[in-house]
This record gives sequence, structure tokens and C-alpha cells, in this order.
Amino acid sequence: MWKIIRDAKIDEVMFFVPHAEEVSTGLGTDAENEEMVAILAPIFERLREASIAPSINMWWTVGFSDFLSLTRNLHDRFNFRWAVNLDGRESASIACPQDPSWCAQIQRMYRTYARLKPVRIWIDDDVRMTQRADMQCPCFCEVCLGAMARRTGRSFTRAELLKGILADPPNPVRNAWFDFQEELERGIVSDLAKAVHAESPSTRVSLMFSMLEIHWAEGRRWPALVKALDTPRPHLRPGIGPYTETTAYGIAAG
Ligand SMILES: [Zn+2]
Repeated sequence: MWKIIRDAKIDEVMFFVPHAEEVSTGLGTDAENEEMVAILAPIFERLREASIAPSINMWWTVGFSDFLSLTRNLHDRFNFRWAVNLDGRESASIACPQDPSWCAQIQRMYRTYARLKPVRIWIDDDVRMTQRADMQCPCFCEVCLGAMARRTGRSFTRAELLKGILADPPNPVRNAWFDFQEELERGIVSDLAKAVHAESPSTRVSLMFSMLEIHWAEGRRWPALVKALDTPRPHLRPGIGPYTETTAYGIAAG
């Protein structure tokens, strides 16, 4: 690693933690995160001494799709309230975003890595409400159905709620559901930024994003979400796939 950094005159090194992509078993446990911080602490020191900025990229927060060779089941590692699909099936690896124990786990994870005082902590593009692991939809657990009942003044079965959301817009159920998803997502990001800044106020909490169609489908509202990353000013980056060309009209239509 040091030879590559020197030869390429690299000025910032970002570490994916505690594991990533094909070798990731999913959300990091407290033990895995503490072990990784202990490994990285002397490396961060050495990078700083060489005037190279060290950063962190959190690989798994909400969750990613399964690789064919690696279907993840986190039920034996965490005791979360698991997200529920439209057909009532519980996810093997994705927690309900309203589960307090999951919220506490991810906030503790970000705070743990913030102890390293990274220049940036990147939230990967899995912090979104669509297309994750064995979930083909956002969470439809009883708690989330209850939230929609409060927002709309009527209760729904999962099938009724789907029908209401997919009815031609504008309709109040669809609007309430987008509001709900947006508040969940923004709440996650805001809590993570607070957790980081409690430990390291100067770290820029930054955000990777997916292809824009994915974010249109979840009703993402960018200005509010970016504001939730707080100060110092965050950075945003696309994944490899979204380096595509489109028109300003196309983006505005989404
Ligand atoms: Zn839920």
C-alpha cells in the first residue's frame, strides 16, 4: 500500500470498514468494529505524518443486495426487528429502519470509527429505502403500517397500502408514503452525522449515491438530505454505475 501511495502521489486514502463487497458478512458487530479501529489507528498516524489524509467508508449501514455466492443472514448476529416485505416475509439481513436497537447499533458504529478522526466518513449508497438484499420494497412491518395509519387517518393491509401508493398521482396516500420514507432516510443520516460529530466535530460526513432513478423511486429530497449531513460541508459522490449522461430536463422530471 505504501509503495502505491508514494508512486502515485496519492493525497487521501479511504478505508472500507470493517469489510466490503464479496467478503462482507453484512453489518459490522461491535467486536469487528473495535478490532478494525485498533488495526487502523497506527496506520492513520503514519498517513498523517506523511501529510496524507485518512478517511473511512462505511461499507454496510442499511444493507446491500446479496451476491449469488453470498446470501447473508444476520439473524444469528443481531437481534433486530427485521424489515418485512409486501408479502409479509421477514428479511434475513435488513432491519426495520424504525427499530431502536438497529438505530443504536449503526450510530455506535459510526461513533466508533469517528474516534480515528478521519477527514471524511463516507456513508455508502446503501442508505436508501429501495432494492436491498431480499427486500423488494421499503419496510412494511406492523410498526411501519401503524405509522402510515397515523399519517393517513386509516388503517391498511399491505396489499391495500400498495394499491393506494400506486394509484395515479397526485393522491394523499402516495404523498404520505413518500413523506414517511423521506423522513426515515433523513433521520438515519442526521443521527449518523450527530454520532460522528459528537466524537470528531471536524470530520466531513459525506454521502455516496446510486443511480438517480433509484432515488426518484424513493422520493428522495436532496436539499434536506444534504443539510442533514451537517457541517463541516459534506462531499457527495456517485458510484461507478451512475457516471452516465442525462439532461437537466430528465433530472428535473425525476
Ligand atoms: Zn418497519
